[in-house]
Amino acid sequence: MQINLLRSHVLAGILGLACAWGCDRPGAGPPEPADPAVAASLEPVTVQPAANAEPAPSAEPDGPRPANTDTQGEPEMSTSPKPLKFPVQKSDAEWQALLTPEEYRITRLKGTERAFTGAYWNTKLAGTYECVCCGRKLFVSDAKFDSGCGWPSFFRAIDEDAIVTQEDRSIPPPRVEIMCSNCGAHLGHVFDDGPPPTGLRFCVNSASVRLVPREVAEPGSD
Ligand SMILES: [Zn+2]
Repeated sequence: MQINLLRSHVLAGILGLACAWGCDRPGAGPPEPADPAVAASLEPVTVQPAANAEPAPSAEPDGPRPANTDTQGEPEMSTSPKPLKFPVQKSDAEWQALLTPEEYRITRLKGTERAFTGAYWNTKLAGTYECVCCGRKLFVSDAKFDSGCGWPSFFRAIDEDAIVTQEDRSIPPPRVEIMCSNCGAHLGHVFDDGPPPTGLRFCVNSASVRLVPREVAEPGSD
């Protein structure tokens, strides 16, 4: 149900928002507001690559960012400013023992890898992208598209419960942060300039996920 929350005013608040991670394209006007019905649609897909973009370094500062403390009377948990509760809970020390320094910085401290540097921004391998922290399946390669922004981009998550969102006002303009619903790992942000059928672009750090290649049926394996 989390995806439906994108239909709320939180997403409406970022209408017109281009990628704030350095993939703004000169002359590119603000995107058309997405039809919420289309955004929530799960119809069969047609992947449409976005316009090319020039490589640009990450414009986002490293390290943790202050949590949003705005109170807008959000009725549901996914976009609530209150701290979110996740099934998988570990201490910072436990996460650090489990992850590489880069994975820890990005997933647990809400960092960002530089554009065009991650392992998966340009991969076309078929498979499932799992949370690097907890293994929760998050995205499938069938929903991956070439956004040109330098990060792996998907037009939808693997299922409606995979991702939770919350408003991110760490840097203007406000964005919608996406997190693993199981452990709260910071994945990236979702924007409304994606291709049909959802019109969404889940912009994900490669370091937040791990690609498990699709298994090929072995001949004569009976
Ligand atoms: Zn996770």
